[in-house]
Amino acid sequence: MSASRPPAPSGVGARRACRKAVVRWGERRVAIGGDASIVVQSMTNTDTADPIGTAIQVKALAQAGSELVRITVNSPQAADAVPAVREQLDRMGVDVPLVGDFHYNGHKLLTEFPDCAKALSKYRINPGNVGAGSRREDNFSKMIEVACRHDKPVRIGVNWGSLDQRVLARMMDENAQRAQPWDAAQVMREALVVSAIESAAQAVALGLSPDAIVLSAKVSSVQDLIAVYRELAGRCDYPLHLGLTEAGMGSKGIVSSAAAMAVLLQEGIGDTIRVSLTPEPRGDRSREVVVAQELLQSMGLRAFAPLVVACPGCGRTSSTFFQELADRIQRFLREQMPAWRKRYPGVESMQVAVMGCVVNGPGESRHADIGISLPGSGEAPVAPVFIDGERSVTLKGDRIAEEFQAIVEDYVARRYGVPMKENP
Ligand code: SF4
Repeated sequence: MSASRPPAPSGVGARRACRKAVVRWGERRVAIGGDASIVVQSMTNTDTADPIGTAIQVKALAQAGSELVRITVNSPQAADAVPAVREQLDRMGVDVPLVGDFHYNGHKLLTEFPDCAKALSKYRINPGNVGAGSRREDNFSKMIEVACRHDKPVRIGVNWGSLDQRVLARMMDENAQRAQPWDAAQVMREALVVSAIESAAQAVALGLSPDAIVLSAKVSSVQDLIAVYRELAGRCDYPLHLGLTEAGMGSKGIVSSAAAMAVLLQEGIGDTIRVSLTPEPRGDRSREVVVAQELLQSMGLRAFAPLVVACPGCGRTSSTFFQELADRIQRFLREQMPAWRKRYPGVESMQVAVMGCVVNGPGESRHADIGISLPGSGEAPVAPVFIDGERSVTLKGDRIAEEFQAIVEDYVARRYGVPMKENP
């Protein structure tokens, strides 16, 4: 089972009380909501009909720390390949639960490919993309029936780019009756919330347990996302999946996602998150996982890997050495985490400081568990190391980076290593 949520850091609002949905694969249990920690998830961008390529990317996302991985199931070929993706992952020892993303033809794929329905641990259904008119009810019912039969939780994920037009039309009619009609944005936000809540009620009426439902209502604007989720949080007790849809590339996507989600998380809203970054061409898909983890860790909501505190550098630094050292240490720490997580419990909360000069270097290094203050321009070419707030050794020469890395490694083993039990 996922770890219980640690106590909220001071300043963070009381956690919103909600149900808990559990996503399972084999012995693996990932709990969303209730008292569980906020779950990090991600999504592949491979063609699911290519089971090997998809399994390789799922593995990379899981190794980066994604606790659930969503895959596209958009065609008979993709549905047919899902069991092979699962088998390949199981063979590789990757037990991350898979979530199937369905639009338009999910009712057909889930009923015509029962092995696909079984191999997935959760289904994402977009109520705006299940068909029009009477077919909508039939198609939605078929998917919920499959979820009930296979005991799988469902995320009812509405999206403003594919909003249920029937609900939107109804909201517009209701708005026209108001003495003071809302503006179009407010009507759209209301339609998103209503679509999610009514679809959940429909799923429950069809027999799905309320404890098997997660809701999301994604939009691409920061202020809309905050407004929609505040409303959704107040009107239901389902766990909520947070994320800005189409967040964008690079710093824009990261800043927008963090700005929106941080406000909600600070208010205790959000039980699982995804940062929907558009990767650079041939970029690393796992970046969205690292960003999600760093968002939660920087807010003190979870810890995943030791954090490196580094100064931005300024005119007092004569070289990029401290930037390279900070980068080297951050990468080293992340690379060690799969092994360290088991061997050194608690190491994920460690803070390492890499600072560029004497102005803030010793002070920041003393605040960290372990830190180094490199020499700025005009300073003596020595780098004092601080451990647990005390000045320790002073490094100098060409091997400062290697020696500091070795000191960090030694510190981790001493501080977080579980002492061997003595023989009786
Ligand atoms: S610690 Fe020194 S080098 Fe780094 S930003 Fe501050 S003054 Fe500049």
